[in-house]
Order: sequence, then structure tokens, then C-alpha cells
Amino acid sequence: MILMYHGVATVADDPNKLCVTPSRFAEQMAWLARRGLRGVSVGELVHALRANRQRGLVGITFDDGYVNVLDSALPELQRHRFGATVFVISGRLGGTNDWEAPPAPRWPLLSASQVQTLAAAGIEIGSHGVNHTRLASAEPEQVAREVRASRATLAALVGTEIRGFAYPYGSQDVAARIAVRDAGYDYACAVAAKGPEIGLLTLPRVYVGQRDGEARMALKRLLYRGHLAIKGRSS
Ligand SMILES: [Zn+2]
Repeated sequence: MILMYHGVATVADDPNKLCVTPSRFAEQMAWLARRGLRGVSVGELVHALRANRQRGLVGITFDDGYVNVLDSALPELQRHRFGATVFVISGRLGGTNDWEAPPAPRWPLLSASQVQTLAAAGIEIGSHGVNHTRLASAEPEQVAREVRASRATLAALVGTEIRGFAYPYGSQDVAARIAVRDAGYDYACAVAAKGPEIGLLTLPRVYVGQRDGEARMALKRLLYRGHLAIKGRSS
């Protein structure tokens, strides 16, 4: 199972339900720990999958790279010795989420040095493109630029290879998946994924929001396992 977060913050206005409060996030991480589950980066999860040792591991991801992930999520992850992957937008470091149409609230994105701080704390840095562009049906040159240039920029910034990509808006198609593979990534995270397309280049994720207390977390875990079990039977 891979969890999908965006921000961890107490915000007044959140029309797209992208943030969980720090106390809710703490509760969700404590729930994982109590169940004997360990939060890890998707890179670590993929590594474990290849060795068939994924049991008890849950991928934790944050899209967009909000500053509040460094301020509010990292301390909680560290309390449990959990890993995570943060997918940052290489062309918007230090900017805001201004790809969202007004009146969506503006939240600050991690600066280059803050991304380095996260990486130094053991958090995996993945790419979320150069500009947060929708990749399905986009021009091939644009898709190639988004996946390649962001990977190169981020690798230079953190000094390690960038193994993971997360499709902006979850938007992807066959061409986008091939571009991601050709750019050298090991894996890519989608949002929802249909049975036959699920694979390392289309990893489905479970949205986690403010409403997800313990009962709903348990239900989502069951639904996710059922979803993969059905997929396994049909393929
Ligand atoms: Zn995004």
C-alpha cells in the first residue's frame, strides 16, 4: 500500500482537501506503528517488492513539495523512524502552488536548500515534473522535457539518482509511461490506476485526508488489498 499526502498543516481554506492537520497526521502515523506497519519511501518499497520482502511496509508519499512537509511531517516521521518520498516540482522550488486556479489558496513550496535538508534527513526525493504539467495527451517533446529535465535538476541538487516520478494530477497514458521509463526512472506513482495498467510505472496510491481516522484507515487498507487481489486474479 502507498499512501498519498500533499500538505500537513492547519489551513482555513482547503477546497481540494489537500491538507491534513499535524495532529491528524500524527494519529495516522501512530496507527501504522501500532499495527506493526513501517512507513517507507517508495524507493525502499520497490526494492523490497523485488526481493518479495514488502510485508509490513507502507509507502508514504507527499506530492508538490510543500514547506509544511519539512516543518510538520518530518518530525512525526522521525519519531517513528519512518521513511517517505516527497515528489517536488523542479521548476518551482521556492515558489507556490500557482498552477491551481484561483480562488485556491497559495501555499509555499520547498526551496532548493529545504529539499536538500529533507534529503539529508533520509527522505527520498522524487520528481513531480518541471512545471506540474498534465502529461496525458501532451506533446512528446514536452513530456520528455518534463520527465528528463526535472530528474537531472533534482539529481544535481541532492547528489543522488532520482528513482521515482509522480504524475502531476495523476495524469498519464502509455506515452507518458514510456517517457518515464526511458528517462531512467525505476518507478512512477499514479493516483487511481485501472487493473491492467498497474505496474512499477503506474503504482496506485491511496488518498489520505483529514477525515481519515483509524476506522477509515483500516477500511482503506482492506479495500486496497482487495483491489490488488482482484487484479491478481484477473491477470
Ligand atoms: Zn501535484
